[in-house]
Amino acid sequence: MAEWTKRFSIKGRRALITGASRGIGAEICRVFADAGADIVAVARDGDALAEVAADVRALGRDCVTLTADLATAEGPVRAAEAAIEQAGDIDILVNSAGVARVAPALELGLEAWEETMAVNLRAPFLLARTLAPAMIAQRWGKIINISSQTGVIALKDHTAYATSKGALNALTKSLMAEWAEHNVQVNAICPTVVMTPMGRKIWSPEEKSGPFLAATPLGRFGEPVEIADLALYLASPAAELINGAVIMIEGGYSSV
Ligand code: NAP
Repeated sequence: MAEWTKRFSIKGRRALITGASRGIGAEICRVFADAGADIVAVARDGDALAEVAADVRALGRDCVTLTADLATAEGPVRAAEAAIEQAGDIDILVNSAGVARVAPALELGLEAWEETMAVNLRAPFLLARTLAPAMIAQRWGKIINISSQTGVIALKDHTAYATSKGALNALTKSLMAEWAEHNVQVNAICPTVVMTPMGRKIWSPEEKSGPFLAATPLGRFGEPVEIADLALYLASPAAELINGAVIMIEGGYSSV
């Protein structure tokens, strides 16, 4: 085996991935399994999780599926505890579950604000806090938060979503500051629009996507596999020096 492939390998690692029923999270399950990791896939939709699990098993890896509502205070903790019970200690946590409730700030309902904060911010905190002790004990762990470019730069009508992602970026750095000395890396990925069910719902109309694409130097949106490939790098030993990074993956949108 060539030396560089060992540095980029997650073979034999166990990864818990939320938002695994579709979109970016489902793609991360497939890419991580292809790279040799066993998967714990978490979401509410059990049927969709079963399809992702079939893809993972077809790649020769184990897959435990867990249905959980991450909008509740108990859901994330119960899911993390069930994962440890059914699969064993987790080496890699990817927080990909997310909701985007888009509305002008003057019209945004309190319920939308609360759900956004619960799923996008509280759940990653509770999952990380429940799974980190085993990572700390073994002196190896990776926590990857799927944030958003709008956690860093403003987009109209994204008040709750952007606030949750900006806070997720702060959470990423705060957890890093506590756990880096235990060789647990915590990093955030900030994608541009990706045409998953979430991306399509918000950005499908040409009058919305057109100006956005015109302002993007690369001239296109992202693909789920591009986000999954960056997550794979961050999950690998090669990325050990990357700690508390908030990484833009947005075709240059935020640089111009
Ligand atoms: P998606 O296609 O809408 O998928 C969202 C995932 O989150 C689903 O698996 C969903 O599973 C899960 N989820 C939502 N609410 C949940 C809850 N209460 N409990 C448990 N699971 C819940 O979205 P995506 O595009 O893959 O987004 C993945 C991540 O990337 C999100 O954090 C999002 O904010 C971020 N992101 C997306 C884009 C984009 O344009 N797509 C851009 C930047 C960042 P169930 O419905 O089965 O529960």
